[in-house]
Amino acid sequence: MGQDWAPGATVARLHGMQEVAGSNPAESTSYCVFGWFWMKKEINYKALVNSAIKALGDAYGVEKGGRIYASAVLSTTGKIYTAGAYWSYTASLTLHGEQAALAHAAAHGDGDILAIVSVCDDKPRDGVFAHPCGICKQLIWENSLRSGISVKVVMANSSGKYIVKEIKDLVPYPWPTSKK
Ligand SMILES: [Zn+2]
Repeated sequence: MGQDWAPGATVARLHGMQEVAGSNPAESTSYCVFGWFWMKKEINYKALVNSAIKALGDAYGVEKGGRIYASAVLSTTGKIYTAGAYWSYTASLTLHGEQAALAHAAAHGDGDILAIVSVCDDKPRDGVFAHPCGICKQLIWENSLRSGISVKVVMANSSGKYIVKEIKDLVPYPWPTSKK
């Protein structure tokens, strides 16, 4: 019938491959990919968040004392691609973790995503999570528009706690509203 996948089983990191073992937590949503079609199944959010937390160590060029951000995306093929932020002295040229993770997946020809994590190295506080910035929300929205998938945005803290929202709920008046 189709090819099933083990959520979180395969992780491609910027610096090599890494296996992430994980069980599906009760709070999860997942998908199964059948060629052009995808169906709801389970996303292993815990494994995805843990991958993003590990990628905090991959941030490039961070200024001493600077806040570190990272991300992980789950593609429609079941792979996880991670990235830390890629800093520029100009600040404005800095690639955010989410941008770098989206580009990392696309660089593997696997750019349609089901979920994306935002995480920061801030000391964890109850109810406080890293959110994607406006630019990253726009990129996630456009990814969703291209694939037709309602991308799940996983906002996490460095202790592994997270909340999940759909990108359409984070971008209530999006542009563009449809693909060309
Ligand atoms: Zn951003």
